[in-house]
Amino acid sequence: MRVGVLLYPDPVTLTAPPRLLLVHAHPDDETLTTGGTIARYAAHGVHVTVVTCTLGEEGEVIPEGLRGLAVDAADQLGGYRVGELRSACAALGVADHRFLGGLGRWRDSGMAGTGANAHPRALVAGDLDEQVAALETIVREVRPQVVVTYDANGGYGHPDHIRAHQITTEVVSRVPDIDRFFHTVASQGAAATGVRALSELPDLPFRLPEPGELAVVPDEIITTAVDVSEHLPAKLSALRAHATQVSVWQSGNGSDSYAASYALSNGIAQPVLGREFYVLAAGEATGVETDLFGGLFDGRDADAQGTR
Ligand SMILES: [Zn+2]
Repeated sequence: MRVGVLLYPDPVTLTAPPRLLLVHAHPDDETLTTGGTIARYAAHGVHVTVVTCTLGEEGEVIPEGLRGLAVDAADQLGGYRVGELRSACAALGVADHRFLGGLGRWRDSGMAGTGANAHPRALVAGDLDEQVAALETIVREVRPQVVVTYDANGGYGHPDHIRAHQITTEVVSRVPDIDRFFHTVASQGAAATGVRALSELPDLPFRLPEPGELAVVPDEIITTAVDVSEHLPAKLSALRAHATQVSVWQSGNGSDSYAASYALSNGIAQPVLGREFYVLAAGEATGVETDLFGGLFDGRDADAQGTR
């Protein structure tokens, strides 16, 4: 018997509600790399927890009127970005957000080789064991079946992203009952297709990336492509919430997903794609092609209630 209000057609076989936990380095990373995925699973009733490791204090500020917040001025950017992150989480449907070690415990370490790396509260200067313990406490409380963070290179080499990978990998190795561990990645093929589409738009206000300028991985290593096309409005709203870090552009009526683009402070156009990509780092691979939870629930996908 199917009851319309239930999320799952047959709750009897469901031993635990699906829970997804994502570990990110700075406010905006949750949206830039996994925003569509978060919005999709949250909309389908999955309990989504986002853990952010720092406040992003070292970010460059795009809007002229907010530059006084920056690290070389008032150094108030971190507190301001807490508000941006809150708005982004609301847009994505995240009800459970945590800062690693509590709000303000660890600071944005800045780009590799900068003086910010040595700040006493910098994430990379912090005690790895303390950071692992802080995340382990959250993971044991939330008990996610699926955990997501960056690959060993942190996606693009930022020291805080690499540290987030190290912390999360250690916690996943310690905590039983995590079914799958994924790395969020960008697809070389999908990025190329998206950039080609952007190159045909006459009004694009950002410059197109040079070959090799976007951080991508070869498509052969990608295990999972999550269709987020229906959740791009939420992702775009969340991108707009991070106004100090991200400029968002949409052409015409915004109905075509390829007619949306964003740029960070470097002004390089990035496509907003209808799929987000992952590499399975640990766990059962069967059923993983299009769904992080695929096959985990006794053959039922976590979002198999019909509307995709
Ligand atoms: Zn980041």
